[in-house]
Amino acid sequence: MGSIRRSKTKRRTRDLDQVHGDLSSEITVAKLKNQPLDESKPGLGQYYCVECAKYFETDFAEVVHRRGKNHKRRVKLLKEQPYSQGEIDAAAGVGVEKYFEFVSKYEEEKKQRQEEKSSSMQVE
Ligand SMILES: [Zn+2]
Repeated sequence: MGSIRRSKTKRRTRDLDQVHGDLSSEITVAKLKNQPLDESKPGLGQYYCVECAKYFETDFAEVVHRRGKNHKRRVKLLKEQPYSQGEIDAAAGVGVEKYFEFVSKYEEEKKQRQEEKSSSMQVE
């Protein structure tokens, strides 16, 4: 029993909201992609998938991983926003008005982005 629990925590990578934090800053992403050589990490820490918080031994292994099912599933999950403090408060009945404001703003932004996307596709 103990061994099962141990392997679970061993394989545990960063939580989605943590990765979301990593991806929100270009500087962090650049840092993670260009890590100093580290003997304690697979592939000396040179082949890292930011989305999955995973190291790979070789360039090839990373490329294969990026094409794989697990990576794509992870990327899809990361497209959704992690829970914000506003949402947590609203669930508890605090600051609900503020939360609805935030949601309508977010929906608007999303619509705008989609419109931009479709208009740029028409140009091509
Ligand atoms: Zn990945």
